[in-house]
Order: sequence, then structure tokens, then C-alpha cells
Amino acid sequence: MYEVIDGKQLAASMRRDIAKEVERFKSLNGRQIGLAVVLVGENAASQIYVRNKTRACEEVGIKSYTHFLSAETTQPELERLIKTLAADDSVDGILVQLPLPQHIDAAEILRLIPVEKDVDGFSEQNIGKLAMNRECLVSCTPNGVMKMLASKNISLKGKKAVVVGRSNIVGKPMALLLLNADATVTVCHSRTANLKEECLGADILIAAAGKAKFITADMVKEGAVVVDVGMNRDENGKLCGDVDFENVKHKCSYITPVPGGVGPMTVTMLMYNTCVAAFRRLKL
Ligand code: NAP
Repeated sequence: MYEVIDGKQLAASMRRDIAKEVERFKSLNGRQIGLAVVLVGENAASQIYVRNKTRACEEVGIKSYTHFLSAETTQPELERLIKTLAADDSVDGILVQLPLPQHIDAAEILRLIPVEKDVDGFSEQNIGKLAMNRECLVSCTPNGVMKMLASKNISLKGKKAVVVGRSNIVGKPMALLLLNADATVTVCHSRTANLKEECLGADILIAAAGKAKFITADMVKEGAVVVDVGMNRDENGKLCGDVDFENVKHKCSYITPVPGGVGPMTVTMLMYNTCVAAFRRLKL
């Protein structure tokens, strides 16, 4: 019998706890925690993500400073804004919504975010610290997955974990977190030979390839924990994950759904990281 890990419910309960911490920060420090979100251009998906982040801030009591910049914003203009936010004491976290327009050097922009305000955990320094298992701000989606596993007391020590996907924002930090938790980790990608065999060896299978329903039941070991990070559209335009949920679920001990799984946890982890960044910065 499988159990569905409800990301929506866990996210709601975490947000209640975060709201209490935000209030505690205010009573200790006399100001609200602040998150600056920078969006360049009119990418429709990015606008929705930014709106969701602003709403989540309101829900937990974090002050959001949203900067909507035109698609024509130049590199020096954007750099000036990031430097101003970096020096602003009322800003505890800075998030630059990706992707940036082609004419902007995104890596150069991300480098300007101070490591202690990098609440997306995308900076080279934060990823380096994660690789060395040191305290850092961890990329929101993989960190949300870890919270979901912990919420069910799923032990990782000595377990075989397979991560399908090696992006800098999901697959790689996910693999590092699992390794830091003492799992034996395999990372698969588009050039992996025998993906099915690799997946069949997984006690914990994390799907983050961005391919609709591409993890099928014959790729999953009996009793595995399956976490679906994917957010795709199926042939009818309906939101779906990387996992063929209806057929895979019967083989699992635990499985996460899409929607209602990893997705709601990602924005919640951004609130969590902003809160952590605020307390750490003030050494509270
Ligand atoms: P990405 O940058 O496109 O990376 C996809 C990864 O999957 C790459 O490493 C790619 O391998 C690998 N891959 C692609 N096709 C494959 C195949 N046939 N077999 C094995 N590996 C394959 O995507 P991403 O940003 O990591 O996101 C992954 C998925 O998670 C997307 O659906 C995205 O929408 C979703 N996502 C969800 C959330 C959330 O909050 N739920 C957050 C972020 C992302 P190569 O490196 O060899 O190309």
C-alpha cells in the first residue's frame, strides 16, 4: 500500500511556523523581514511565479519589494539595482527571477548577490558550501524535497538514491543533499546508458527531467519512494509531473503527486530561506 506525500498540507503547516518566526524577528528587531524580487521583462510564466512569491510573502508577513524592470534594462542598470539591494539593511533576501533576457549576463548578476542574501541558493558560493556540507542557503526545490522526506521520517542513510536530472537548480543540489544525508547517490541525465536499470536500483527515486510521465512503472522498484519534481503539460494541456503517477503509485511506499506535491513546497522554502537569512545576518 502506498502513501501520498501531500506537499500542499506540509507547505501550509510550514508557513504557519514561518509566520511565527517572522513575527518573532519583528519583535526582536523592530522591523519586518524583507525580500526583494527582481523581474526583468514580460515572460508570462515568470510573472506568475513572481506573483505567487509576493502572495506567499504577504501570507507569512514578509515585506516584499518587487522590482519590475523593462526587457530593455541594460546590464549596468541591473547591476546598479542589485548593488543597492545588497547594501540595503531592510532587505534580507534578494531573488532575481530567471531566465533573464539574452543580453544580460545572468552569472555576473547572480555573483553580485551577497552570499548571505542569496535566498535562491543559486550562487557559486552557496552551491560550493553545499558540496562541502557546510551551513548555507539551499536551493528551494531540492530543500523542499528533503523536508517532504523528513516529514514521513524516511531514512536516507545507506539507501540507494537515484536523481534523474543534473541541472544546477534542481538535480545537482538534490544529489548533494542526499549525499550529505548519507544516501548512496547516482545522478542520471540525457546521456545515461540504461536509465531503466539505474532507476530500478533506487530505494529513493527523484524525477527532475522535465519530461511528462516519463518514469513508468517498469522503471520503479517495489516499495520505492518516488518524488516527482517535474512540472509539465500532458497531451491535453493538463499539468503533470515526470512520473506516470496512476501506474507507478502501486509500486511505491511513498509518492508525491503533481500538482500538490513538490510545487507548493518550493515557494514555502523561499519564505523559509528568507527567514533563515534574516536571523543569520543579524546573528539572532
Ligand atoms: P532542466 O534544466 O531542463 O534539466 C533537465 C535535466 O533532465 C537535465 O539534466 C537533462 O539532462 C535531464 N534529462 C532530460 N531528458 C532526459 C532523459 N530523457 N533521460 C534522462 N535525463 C534527462 O530542468 P530543471 O530546471 O532541472 O527542471 C526539471 C523539471 O522540474 C522541470 O519539469 C521543471 O519544470 C521542474 N521544476 C519544478 C519545480 C517545482 O517547484 N516543482 C521547480 C523547478 C523545476 P542533460 O543535462 O544531459 O541535458
